[in-house]
Amino acid sequence: MERMPIIGVTGSIEDDEHRQFINSNYLARLLKAGMIPLVLSLDMDSHQIPLCLDRLDGLLLSGGNDVDPMMFGEAPTTGLGAVSPKRDKLEMHVVKEAYRRNMPIFAICRGIQSLNVALGGTLYQDLPSQYRAADDHPPLLHAQTAHERYPSHKITVTPGTPLYEIFQEDSLAVNSFHHQAIKALAPPLTVCARATDGVIEAVYDTEKPFVLGVQWHPERMKEGMPLFHAFEKACAAYAAAHGCLAVHG
Ligand code: MN
Repeated sequence: MERMPIIGVTGSIEDDEHRQFINSNYLARLLKAGMIPLVLSLDMDSHQIPLCLDRLDGLLLSGGNDVDPMMFGEAPTTGLGAVSPKRDKLEMHVVKEAYRRNMPIFAICRGIQSLNVALGGTLYQDLPSQYRAADDHPPLLHAQTAHERYPSHKITVTPGTPLYEIFQEDSLAVNSFHHQAIKALAPPLTVCARATDGVIEAVYDTEKPFVLGVQWHPERMKEGMPLFHAFEKACAAYAAAHGCLAVHG
């Protein structure tokens, strides 16, 4: 009998809200690691979200637009990029509900920002203008010019964290396509990696089986696959305990 965890995936929405979409590499990587992806409608209401999560074994927060600073109590500053209010609202609700259930959450790029805001943190609205690295760290370009499959900067991984356990490396080379980043860390989260300029590049929750956020795009790099395998392992364990595995045979 073959069993595959079912993963809810948040996607993007166009400004006029006539089309919702997801980059296919998120779905391809989930499938490759042994999970069934389901793209979540951003139109679900507060009654439908818990009913939907009843049928899921994991949550993947994908990349996308900036998070609206209204979500963390700030007015927009110059330099803020495009925002998607409908997506922000849905993700805040879905993250809180999945988190409450101890459901595995894997958050990528915008996803780490959504995760941090949903759990009570804040963001640099415009990283290049608002972030100042400490004197001994030269500023880094976090919007790389090289193709997405190539790493552009290094991150330092804290030993003893899930990210270290997965890669067994204290330094990783990652790609970088983000305009925002974590400013005030949400109370339940712990940093597990920083870029060489000090920007937070990965976080996790010490109290949960698997809540992991990464600021880069592992789904675009061949080196990113171990993260998807680790996520699958956590989702399969969640499914065995609470969830709704797809069963075949
Ligand atoms: Mn970066």
